[in-house]
Amino acid sequence: CGIVGYVGPQPALGVVVDGLKRLEYRGYDSAGVAVLTDGRMETEKRAGKLANLKSALAETPRSTDGIGIGHTRWATHGAPTDVNAHPHVDNDNRVAVIHNGIIENFAALRLELEERGCKFSSETDTEVTAHLLGEAVKEQGDDLAAAMRAVCRRLEGAFTLVAMYAGDPDLVIAARRNSPLVVGRGDGENFLASDVAAFIDHTRDAVELGQDQVVELRRDSVTVTDYDGNPAPVREYHVDWDA
Ligand code: GLU
Repeated sequence: CGIVGYVGPQPALGVVVDGLKRLEYRGYDSAGVAVLTDGRMETEKRAGKLANLKSALAETPRSTDGIGIGHTRWATHGAPTDVNAHPHVDNDNRVAVIHNGIIENFAALRLELEERGCKFSSETDTEVTAHLLGEAVKEQGDDLAAAMRAVCRRLEGAFTLVAMYAGDPDLVIAARRNSPLVVGRGDGENFLASDVAAFIDHTRDAVELGQDQVVELRRDSVTVTDYDGNPAPVREYHVDWDA
């Protein structure tokens, strides 16, 4: 039910977990994060309160790179368990995905992926997107943005999808359709979330994404396109209320 993404000079884990804390009011049944540690993809996810995730994280102290994504889940497909919590990863553990919403055509996509030898570990609708992105990023010559656009063209339903890829440690990619997504522009760092509350301590310069748009978030740039790669119009605004 909540989404946070960060790319910048700070160790990402603290920024992402703090952001999730600010979104707790939205209600959720599980929480999880994906970060890179020395370029390696690491995920941690737990059913229940954020406190459960925090104590799991505390068992393995780590110094994370400046990129991370975090999720609070409100289960629609698959029980609220550790395994069904997000992020979900592809079979190479190179792509991690978080998702709010519902992928309506997940069953057909799952069958297709299983026929190609993909191994699933959860009961969620979301997991198909991790495997599709894992395949697409290879087909698209390591271009995660092109991969996200290609995958979105195949999805039906409502979603905010956010992904990161071990092969491109300066990029958080996100897409939206009928589900909220806001970018926070910082100085040499950028944020995204389902709600400005998640990043208001860091920046008040926000960019609201439109329908069927993909945003490429890097330390020094925010690029928004439609699903075909054409530049897309966005609404920029300053948040002047107290979150
Ligand atoms: N449909 C997804 C799931 O059940 C995402 C739910 C959500 O919006 O948190 O895992």
